[in-house]
Amino acid sequence: MKSESAFLNNEETTVSQEEGLYMTPEQLEFFRDLLLKWKSNLMVDVDKTIHHMQDEAANFADPNDRATQEEEFSLELRTRDRERKLMAKIDESLNRIDSGEYGICEECGIEIGINRLKARPTAELCIDCKTLQEIKEKQMAD
Ligand SMILES: [Zn+2]
Repeated sequence: MKSESAFLNNEETTVSQEEGLYMTPEQLEFFRDLLLKWKSNLMVDVDKTIHHMQDEAANFADPNDRATQEEEFSLELRTRDRERKLMAKIDESLNRIDSGEYGICEECGIEIGINRLKARPTAELCIDCKTLQEIKEKQMAD
């Protein structure tokens, strides 16, 4: 299973942000490519999980084995759920590239920044708004 950052760390990041140049056609192309590759990567993982579960589902003889297996399955289902959500976010980001909203903070409208997007291509908020959101979420959780 590949984590978000492991995949991104393996990607060559060739674009950088120059003064006054934000979301140029070249940069948009770079992120579109990155998002598409990421998505097909995830789809392979989801496929593997499904096949793995189909293979394993055959043998339910021993109750202990069954408990272990159910634990494994629920873990895999959670992983799949995470992957599905991530894929939905990737699709949203691709839509934002098409509509010209990609890389702009949804909350305050400023540029999210190339470096932040390279680390997190599905980011919809600038670092300030994201930090604020996390503080608020943390307060609600307490
Ligand atoms: Zn913002």
